[in-house]
Amino acid sequence: MSIPNDDSAALLQFDREHLWHPYASMLDPTPVLPVVSAQGVRLTLANGRELIDGTSSWWSAVHGYNHPVLNAAAQKQLQAMSNVMFGGLTHPSAIRLGQLLVDLTPVPLTKVFFSDSGSVAVEVAIKMALQFWRAQDGKKKHVGRKNKLLTVRGGYHGDTFMAMSVCDPVDGMHQLFNGILTEQFFADRPQTRFGEPFDTGDLDSLKELLATHHDDIAALIIEPIFQGAGGMHFYAPDYLQQARKLCNDYDVLLICDEIATGFGRTGKLFACEHAGISPDIMCVGKAITGGYVTLAATLCTDRVAAGICAGEPGALMHGPTFMANALACAIACASIELLISQPWQRCVRIIEMHLRSGLEAARALPNVADVRVLGAIGVIEMHDAIDIRKAQTAFVERGLWVRPFGKIIYAMPPFVMSDDDLRTLTQGMVEVAALL
Ligand SMILES: *Cc1c(COP(=O)(O)O)cnc(C)c1O
Repeated sequence: MSIPNDDSAALLQFDREHLWHPYASMLDPTPVLPVVSAQGVRLTLANGRELIDGTSSWWSAVHGYNHPVLNAAAQKQLQAMSNVMFGGLTHPSAIRLGQLLVDLTPVPLTKVFFSDSGSVAVEVAIKMALQFWRAQDGKKKHVGRKNKLLTVRGGYHGDTFMAMSVCDPVDGMHQLFNGILTEQFFADRPQTRFGEPFDTGDLDSLKELLATHHDDIAALIIEPIFQGAGGMHFYAPDYLQQARKLCNDYDVLLICDEIATGFGRTGKLFACEHAGISPDIMCVGKAITGGYVTLAATLCTDRVAAGICAGEPGALMHGPTFMANALACAIACASIELLISQPWQRCVRIIEMHLRSGLEAARALPNVADVRVLGAIGVIEMHDAIDIRKAQTAFVERGLWVRPFGKIIYAMPPFVMSDDDLRTLTQGMVEVAALL
C-alpha cells in the first residue's frame, strides 16, 4: 500500500492528533515519518525516500524486512489458520517453536510459557518466581516471605508495573509512580566493562543485599552482559558468574532477561553464554519472530516448574488470550531456523568489526564521552542529553534511520547489512555526533 502524496499531509495530521507513539506527548509530538514499505535493511518513506535502518526496529528485524522465507512461513500458517486458543488446544507451530527454544537455550531450561510481548514475559517470569516460593510455604523457613525482587541499577525490563518496579530507579518511572510501584532491592550497577579485568568490588553491594535480605528475595532479575534501554552498558561476564553463585548460596532464583540480547545480538546466541551460566528463568522476545509480529516466551527449569505446580493451586496462574499465537509461532520457527542455518556468528563478527572501526573516530570528538561496541551493537555516548528532533533530522538527511535516546546514539543493524551500508551507517553516526 502506498499513501498518496496529496493525502499524506492529512494522514500525518490524523496521526499527530490521535495516535500515541512510544513515550510521546499528544500536545507536542515529535514528528514521525510515514513508512510505506520496507525491504532488506531499507525503509521506504511515503515520499519515496529510502533510509538504511540502523535499529532493526528495536532489536527485532535481524534478517531485515520482507524476507521471502519469513513471508512464506506466514502465508503457510495463514492458509492453515492464523490462530486458535491455547487453552485445551495446541498446534504444530507452538510445538516446533518450543522444541527450538528448549534445544537452543541453556540445557536446564525445559519449560516454555508463550506470551505476547517482552513486558508480559517479564511479568510471567516474576510470577513464576513468586509462585515458586509461595508453593514452598509450609515446607520452608521463609513462610510468607520471599516476596521481593533484587536487581541492579541501570536495568530495563519493560513498561508494565512489575517490570517497571525493577527498571532503574533514577532513569525509570519510579518517581512518576512513587508509592504505586512495588519497592524492590537495587544493587549497584556492575562497573567492570566487558573485556576488562574484573574488579571483585563490583559485587559488594549485591553480596550485602543478599546477605541481609535473602529471606525476602524471590529472585535476582538481570539483563545478562548488556544493559539495554537503561543506558547501553556492557559488563564483565565474571559479574554474572558470581551473581549466579551468590543466588545458589542464598537460595534466590536467577531470572535472565534476554529480550534484547537473545538470538545472536551480542555474538552469542544468548548473552548468558558469555558467562557460561544458566538462569532458573529466562525471558526472550524482540528478535524471536525476526521482527514480524509480537511474541515472547519465558522459559524455566524443571525445578522451578515442579516447585510451582506442587503447591496451591497446582498451576501457573497466567493465560493470555493470544498465548502461543500460531501465526507468530510459525514465523518465529522460520526466523530461528533461518538464523541457525546461516553463519550468523560470522555476520555478527563482521558487523562488530565495522562498528568498532567506523565509530572509533567519534572518540576524538569533544562532546563524546564514550564509544563502545559488542557484537552487533554500537554505542556513542555523549556528554549531554541529545536533541532528538535535531538528531533525527540529521540522520534522515544522511539516508539513515537511527533513533537516539538520552545521551546515547546507538545502532543495532539487521545481521544482513552489507559492508557499504555499514560504512554509511557508522560514518553518519560519527557525523551526527559531531553536530550535536
Ligand atoms: C524491550 C525490552 C523489554 C520489554 O519488551 P516489550 O516487548 O517492549 O514489552 C524487556 N526487557 C528488555 C531487556 C528489553 O530490551
